[in-house]
Amino acid sequence: MKKLNRLAALLVAVMMVFASVAVAETATVEKVTVTGVGQGIDGDVVVEVTADATTIYDVQVLEQNETVGIGSVAVEQLPAAIVEANSIAVDGIAGATVTSDAIKSAIKSALTEAGIDIAPFEIAPEQEEAVERTDETLTCDVVIVGAGGAGLTAAVQATQNGANVIVLEKMPIVGGNSLKATGGMNAAGTDYQAALGITDSGVQEFIDDTMEGGHQLNDLSLVTTMAENSAAGVAWLAELGAELPKVAATGGTSHKYLHEPEDGSAVGSFLVAKLNEVCESMGITIMLNTEATDLIVTDGAVTGVHAVSAEHDYTVNAKAVILATGGFGANFEMMCEYDPSLANAVTTNHAGATGDGIRMATAIGADTVDMEQIQLHPTVYQATSMLVTESVRSMGGILINLEGKRFCNDMSTRDAVSAAELQQTGACSWIIFDQRIADDLKSTQKYINGGMTVQGDTYEELGAAMGFDEATVATFVESMNTWNAAVAAGEDTEFGRNNGMDDDLSTAPYYAILVAPGIHHTMGGLKIDTETHVIDTDGNAILGLYACGEATGGVHGGNRIGGNAVCDFVVFGRIAGMNAAAYAAD
Ligand code: ADP
Repeated sequence: MKKLNRLAALLVAVMMVFASVAVAETATVEKVTVTGVGQGIDGDVVVEVTADATTIYDVQVLEQNETVGIGSVAVEQLPAAIVEANSIAVDGIAGATVTSDAIKSAIKSALTEAGIDIAPFEIAPEQEEAVERTDETLTCDVVIVGAGGAGLTAAVQATQNGANVIVLEKMPIVGGNSLKATGGMNAAGTDYQAALGITDSGVQEFIDDTMEGGHQLNDLSLVTTMAENSAAGVAWLAELGAELPKVAATGGTSHKYLHEPEDGSAVGSFLVAKLNEVCESMGITIMLNTEATDLIVTDGAVTGVHAVSAEHDYTVNAKAVILATGGFGANFEMMCEYDPSLANAVTTNHAGATGDGIRMATAIGADTVDMEQIQLHPTVYQATSMLVTESVRSMGGILINLEGKRFCNDMSTRDAVSAAELQQTGACSWIIFDQRIADDLKSTQKYINGGMTVQGDTYEELGAAMGFDEATVATFVESMNTWNAAVAAGEDTEFGRNNGMDDDLSTAPYYAILVAPGIHHTMGGLKIDTETHVIDTDGNAILGLYACGEATGGVHGGNRIGGNAVCDFVVFGRIAGMNAAAYAAD
């Protein structure tokens, strides 16, 4: 009897196994709600998806820590687009590729895990029938092309000066390259410097360092204008609620005028978010997904722009136009015209940095300067083109080559460090930092959570994690100890580094990221005068046309020093806003 019972139990168990297999099989076509994980820019992106074999019903992002203003836009917009198209083969959100890919891969892994075949969802949605385009005419005092740092600054200033402003932005998000600026804003003679007792980093030092950093190729009048107006720029930002009270030294100088947000956040996303908020509160119209195509010229003066969106062809009539379209560091064809060796380099630039303003203005006779001056930044993580901020080095980080040795003054100018790095084995190096820097510098969390770092509790462990053999680990440990001794002595006898040496690298755990040079900033651009008028090839100002920010050339000469892109867009964005408003009021 017992035996029979056991047999029956066995039979039931076997049947249950079959039943559960059957359930598992039929579950593949039933509606399920499952979660999956994708790798975002700052750690995991956790997505919940409700679907059956033929339909995606719902997508929710449950957890994420993506960059506000970039990845956050994909988090807001992409799930609905996927549900609407019933496909993960929809276009990602332009400018937020990493987050878009993370959401898609989280959905894929959730569905695959649930036993749902994802092939039907990988078919691109059919293109909707072309919408009927309509012509629209808009009128304003000042139309600003580009909603990066320069465009947003100009928009706020022009509005403060009484102009009615429209901003056109071709991407689905505001911010451009400015949004990616990680360091700070250089400025001299600020109240913040005074409060910290910094007296040796004034306007003249700022001018001298910028000229020297730019190999004296810079336009001295533009550099002087930038430096002289930098403190007013910092004060103006503070009035708008964007305080930059921390002051440090930037690469290539021992002077302290790099102004940063109090909480260690990246300056670009901090300022873009604030300026965007101010634009909103002032009621300034910012038209996203709207690309300016050409300038309208009437009787020799610029009187507006043509622009296109998905549905409209716009004619924007204005009394003045400000080009704030940024540089051309994402336009390889254009860069290779000036430097063919860049064809295979990675770029840190956002996808909209295509030189449109330069093209539009030169088409009506504008002149350009320094177009061949294209900056490589030495610390770019090649797999994702993410920049490792210079602040890691200014807070004490160092560069180590594949032989475990330092190889240059790691706080020299970007072009000098990039050139030294290109001479090393593999044309790359490791950037090393410790827990002290990780605690004080928010950007490092992105690197650690994003899987860019290797780490160790001792220098030996870190060396092994970097893939060094035993002898190279020993060399690496010696390099670290020599560096810490140099910091203690206040003198780098090996390479003459004289800044970013306040603290050593002795707080475990230790981190390293493999980096190499990447295209970062196009120093050349439209020729402007100190009043931001665009200058034509005969040397005359083009009436009604202003330009500011990375679209212009001359400020940075042959090499931009860290912290000057933000100072450039704040100072010249304000001047363009004021002058365009005044011209429009005439
Ligand atoms: P800057 O630092 O000079 O402000 P950014 O790169 O931060 O430069 O910003 C430039 C902005 O201009 C970007 O947001 C970019 O997408 C936008 N832009 C570039 N070309 C056009 C265009 N043709 N129409 C509208 N916006 C444009």
